Amino acid sequence: MRSWLLAVFLSLGLAAPATAADWTTPAEAAGFRTTPSYADTLTYLKRLEEAAPGKIRLQTFGVSPQGRPMMAVIANANGVFTPEGARAAKLPVVLVQAGIHPGEIEGKDAGLMLLRDFAVTGKSPHLLDQVVLVFIPVFSVDGHENSSPYNRINQNGPDSMGFRGQSQYLNLNRDYVKADSPEMRAWLSLWRHWRPDFLTDVHTTDGADYQYDLTWYLEDPNKLDAAVSDWQQKAMAAVVPAYEKRGHLASIYLEFKDEKDPRQGIVNFGSGPRFSTGYAALQNRPALLIETHMLKSYAVRVRAAYDLVALMLEHIGRDPAALLAATAKADADTIARAQNTAARVPLTFKQDLAYTPFALKGYAFRQSPSDISGSGWIQYDPAKPVTVEIPNWNRLQPDVSVAPPAAYAIPAQWTNVIARLRDHGIAYKRLDCAITVDAQGYQLSDPKWATQPFEGHLMLRSVTTDPVSRHETLPAGSVIVPLDQPAANVAIELLEPDAPDSLLRWGLLDSSFEIKEYGEPRVVEKLARDMLARNPGLKAEFEQKLKDDPAFAANSQARLNFFFQRSPWYTVQRAGAYPVLRLDAKVRDALMVPVAGKSCPIPQIDSAYRDLR
Ligand SMILES: [Zn+2]
Repeated sequence: MRSWLLAVFLSLGLAAPATAADWTTPAEAAGFRTTPSYADTLTYLKRLEEAAPGKIRLQTFGVSPQGRPMMAVIANANGVFTPEGARAAKLPVVLVQAGIHPGEIEGKDAGLMLLRDFAVTGKSPHLLDQVVLVFIPVFSVDGHENSSPYNRINQNGPDSMGFRGQSQYLNLNRDYVKADSPEMRAWLSLWRHWRPDFLTDVHTTDGADYQYDLTWYLEDPNKLDAAVSDWQQKAMAAVVPAYEKRGHLASIYLEFKDEKDPRQGIVNFGSGPRFSTGYAALQNRPALLIETHMLKSYAVRVRAAYDLVALMLEHIGRDPAALLAATAKADADTIARAQNTAARVPLTFKQDLAYTPFALKGYAFRQSPSDISGSGWIQYDPAKPVTVEIPNWNRLQPDVSVAPPAAYAIPAQWTNVIARLRDHGIAYKRLDCAITVDAQGYQLSDPKWATQPFEGHLMLRSVTTDPVSRHETLPAGSVIVPLDQPAANVAIELLEPDAPDSLLRWGLLDSSFEIKEYGEPRVVEKLARDMLARNPGLKAEFEQKLKDDPAFAANSQARLNFFFQRSPWYTVQRAGAYPVLRLDAKVRDALMVPVAGKSCPIPQIDSAYRDLR
């Protein structure tokens, strides 16, 4: 609208009429001083959907704990709005998400502009000819609405911004595996539905000051199938120069070894399956973490997110078959690995000691002692850009690894474990009838828990896991998880005790360590005397321990436990018997075939009570 006409409307106190050309986003209209509320974000997206129903479709994929709809925008030039349609047309599905940390919200405002330029203004009409985009404008919607100028002290605008935790104070970017939050379980349902070929997760950094307006992170090649890793390395090698041609400066993610001295070099920040990109790696999918730089203006950061996402979509659209081939190969490789009895799967990673030189485009800085912290104080001078060569230790090497079984068995009673398998889209078979199997298992001992909660859990910090043979009866309803499936690596992460994000480590199986029945001291006194009388070797062992271990000798409870723990009254309780079993191929194959003519009655809940569950 012409400015004089707008002035007339405003002087008359009339609302300016919406015109076909009036597609300024709320952040643009505010000069990027503010970012719109969730309601205003959805209003804009609904306008886009109404204006371009053949290109844009909104879907509600969940409800936040505070009752807000969780929305995804599906966008494609030819109206392909379903995963089946995408597969039939051989179009990769690209999931771009913003606001998992809702104070870091560039991705939302960039996404509104990008969808507009694709769907209505004619600026990028071919951006989604060969791609189906699934865009989550705000993942942590409750955190987004918990907005304050004081939510991110390190960051330069917008004026008010969302809070890092969702409404239950959980950090969604640590929740991918344990999936405690309703938001994450909704996200997993979106993932199961679409099984995207590529994930982009948009954030804002904290940390140091430097020239780059954006840093990016890919999972280490050792965490991924080679096909997927090669694809994403090549994609970034093509996209970053194009991004810089648009006037930006980008770097790999910068995690400084010493925050107070950038010259000490950079390391891999570690990631892991609890993070978005680490989780995508378990699911055989390439993923890109974008971190715009917190100290650049909000306008610059939104433009940075816009350009990188747009260029990546263009890159994928130029050769969609390459991405589809990479993800298909990774899935096929994972399925085929189940036949390889020599295969090992890494569970943890360590820094590769070899480093490469890295030219850091930073700023001059001054280090001075601080009488406030009593330590050092680094102050950057953005007026003085400098390039310094520093060591780069980004590469990782596998550390602890495991030989995957042919299948896992989870006894029916571990309903919380089975529910997580379902959330993650892991295929399993339920046993109709009870069956006794020979299997491998783990005996757990010496558990040590954290003393402070992390993401609502007292994590199991360390535990000794000894492989043991088990002869177990699995009740009807137990589940068998064969590992010849695309999500095999997710199952391994959830179920192997030594995996850093296993359900055991998150504390979902803590009760398996507990003793439920104790011996009264006066009763154990008698038990001890009976055992000593029957077993002279035990007597010698007890007397030696009294001599060697003064703490033991001084602890009457420990002295009685010495006997109780060696008695059947204790061993029958099976403390530390890890409930998940590892099956070999022969047992797996026997369990996976239906048994003809065999059926076992399943108790049915009376209809009056069914609704109450
Ligand atoms: Zn973040």
